[in-house]
Formats: sequence, C-alpha cells, structure tokens
Amino acid sequence: MAADDTPCSEFINWEVDSSICNGFKQEKQLSAPQRRYYSFCRRKSFAAFVASKKDGSHEEGSPLWCCCGQTFIEHAAIHKHVARVHNAEIQQLAQDEYEHLFSQLEEEPEATQVNEHSGETVDVSVWIPDISHISEEQLKNGPGRVLLYYHYCCVEEPHVICAWQKALCEKLHLTGKVRVATEGINGTVGGTNLATDIYIEAMRSHPLFEMDEEDFKTSDGGAECFTELKVGVYKEIVPMGVDPDLISYELAGVHLEPDEFHKEVEALLTKGDSCNDTVLLDCRNYYESKIGQFTQCLAPNIRKFSYFPDYVDQNLELFRDKKVLMYCTGGIRCERGSAYLRSKDVCKEVYQLKGGIHKYLERFPEGFYRGKLFVFDERYAISSNSDIISDCRYCGHPWDQYKLCSTQYCCQLVLSCPSCRQDGHTACCPTCQTKGQAQSEETSHHKEECECTDVRPRIPQDV
Ligand SMILES: [Zn+2]
Ligand SMILES: [Zn+2]
Ligand SMILES: [Zn+2]
Ligand SMILES: [Zn+2]
Repeated sequence: MAADDTPCSEFINWEVDSSICNGFKQEKQLSAPQRRYYSFCRRKSFAAFVASKKDGSHEEGSPLWCCCGQTFIEHAAIHKHVARVHNAEIQQLAQDEYEHLFSQLEEEPEATQVNEHSGETVDVSVWIPDISHISEEQLKNGPGRVLLYYHYCCVEEPHVICAWQKALCEKLHLTGKVRVATEGINGTVGGTNLATDIYIEAMRSHPLFEMDEEDFKTSDGGAECFTELKVGVYKEIVPMGVDPDLISYELAGVHLEPDEFHKEVEALLTKGDSCNDTVLLDCRNYYESKIGQFTQCLAPNIRKFSYFPDYVDQNLELFRDKKVLMYCTGGIRCERGSAYLRSKDVCKEVYQLKGGIHKYLERFPEGFYRGKLFVFDERYAISSNSDIISDCRYCGHPWDQYKLCSTQYCCQLVLSCPSCRQDGHTACCPTCQTKGQAQSEETSHHKEECECTDVRPRIPQDV
C-alpha cells in the first residue's frame, strides 16, 4: 500500500492538522496560539496511544504493534489504523491533555512563588498554639469532623500564611486542602474534634482573619476523608479562571441569611410559573446539582467552576432584568460568581446564600433543598433529608451514591445501584465498560475522560 510508505511524521502532521477543527468543535473560540498548543497535545496523545499498542513481548528486532486484534508491522500502518479507528479516543486524550496542561500553566506561577520563598525562614511559630499539654494520641484519635471555610481579605504575604498553615495543619494531624491567595484563604480540612477545635481557635486568633465561629461549616468525618494535606499559594482561592484584580470579591452580590433565602425561595415557589422575574441559580457543577438541589433551580450543565463565566456570557438573556438568587456548597463560589454576574450589568439584583447549602441545611434540614450535598472528599456526599432525586444510570431506579468508574484512569463518577453493580455495570459509560472488559486494552497513563464527557457541550446554552 502506498499510504503505508508515507513517512510517519508527515502522516501525523496531516492527521493533526485536519482534525483540529472538527476535533475541537466546541472550542471555536480557540486563539491561534491555543490551537498550536492543542495541536501539540494531539500529537503527543497520538504518539502515546501508538506507543501503548507496541507489543512488549517482541522487543528484539523490528517492533510490532497490536491493536483491535490485528498485528501491524509497518509504523505507518499502525498510524493509519489509529487515525482511522481510534480518532475519537485520541481526540479525548488530546483534549484532556490540553486542559491538564492549561491548568498546570495556571498554577505554575504560584508554585514558583512558593518555591521562591521557601529559602526564606519565615517564623510562623507565634501563630501556632502551644499544645504541649496535649498528647499525640489525643490529637489523632477520637471522633472527628471536616471543616469547610473561606475568608476573602487582602493577604499581602500569602507565602507566609501558607507556611503557617502548613505547620499548623501538620502539627494538628489535619488532612485536606488549603488554598491561600492575595484575595484570601479557603480550606477544607479533616481531623479529630479536638484538633479541629484548636485549628478554629488558631484561625480566629490570627489578626489577618477576623473570623467568627460560624464561618466554619462542619460535618461528620475526619482525617480519613482525605488522602493527604495540600497547602499552597494560588492566584484565586477558588478557581474561576478570572483575575481577582479584574473581578474582585468586593463586587459580590448581597448576602442573604438562610432564613431570608428560604423566604425568597418560598415566594418564588408560591408564585409558580407566573413568577418569572426571579432566577434561582445553582452555580455548582452538574454532578453536584444532580444529586441535590433547590426545588425549581436553574442548574447549569458545567463540569467545573472555571466554565461558569463562559456560561454566564453565553446565557446572558436568562438573567436580563431578573432578580437572581445564587447558591453553592459553602458560599465561596457565589462570592466571585455573583461578582462576575453583576459585572455584566444585566440583572436587576443579585443575591447569594450566605454560608451556602451547608448553613441552609443546618437551619432547614427539611427545607427547599432536596437530596444530598455533594462534597469534594472521599465521602462524596452528606445527607440531611432522605430524598433521592437522581437515578441509577443503568436501570433508572432512584439512586444517589456516587462511585468512581471501575475503569482504570477514568476519573468520572457514576451512579450505579447495587443490583446493577452486581450485574457488572460498574463503569461510567459503555466506552469504559468495554475498556474494562478488554483488560489488554491498556492505553497510556493519561487520565481518560469518556464519551459522556465528550457529548456534553462544554458551555451549555440554557437560554
Ligand atoms: Zn485498534
Ligand atoms: Zn440500577
Ligand atoms: Zn469511565
Ligand atoms: Zn463515561
């Protein structure tokens, strides 16, 4: 075959260039440098995919590739096969790689910033409580909980706060994640009740964060809810992908206490369809609102919060002249999400639920929020009422307990009920299910995303 003689590199280039446009259909807005960058990711993914098909048992002599039950001797032939048959997979890998690298780019300057200062000896000991009277055993053992908090304020030396947080959390044997930025601090930490009490006290006694006891949301759990402790300096304390200097938390919408928010939702529900001047907006990700949400809310089908600004941009008409009631898990995303929405200058008013669903549920466990509250740790969800608002992906029966897809490297969550799991439906989608069954189909060590991710428009149009 003549095509098989085509030099590989040229073949890959052709493959890459012709596929950029249709591969990234949803990303028409890619700029020229971004497109080049995507092209690079695509080339890399293609090469990795081909490499993963190399027959390892055939090291000596000329290489062989095995794919889809066929053996390929020519380099160009396997390339052609992969381009023809596995285009969708490559596209997914490339897209994932692209997003992964981009998120790294976003975080890299911060990491450098931390390293830059790591040489300096910052004395943070003054802000670490003396707990010499407490034994390690007391700190580590006993009932525990998870704390969720944030505080927006001007942090002039985030690396100092970061060093202090690291020392404090390590001393108290806390796990979880703490993000520090010049715009404030955001933490989710787990540990024993004793350790978390000391942590709250330490936070409250630090002059920079004039925090109240009630700024900390708590739920059952402990250090076991997280695999590690991550403390770092970032550009934003919650990644919306918009420079805090452009959209500051200071522009946020008006805070409503759970009682006030409850009344607003009640009014909205009583008026029913005739009440079209109010939008109840859930600004969390789709998999969070899927298992729990306020009755009659608008829940965007977005995968991460950094897509929220684009969602707003592309659905502005939904909010024109409306009163918007926003909510999220603990309130942090609403702070800058509402600031972003307000910056568009289309809404009549923008309100946000103070303390988020967390605080609302403490006050109204059987209120207008139905279902579970998704959390970003190993618990996946915490419950306050017994409603199940989502279904098993396979049989459609009510089910809301997420499990990780059983396919290696797929990090999607799946709702599959016990009886469907018993029938072997443990993957997030047919693609993964097939991959899982064909054990030999071991691809690269990329985090894979699935066709279910691929078919979902990145920025949904709800207008
Ligand atoms: Zn194949
Ligand atoms: Zn089922
Ligand atoms: Zn999967
Ligand atoms: Zn899937």
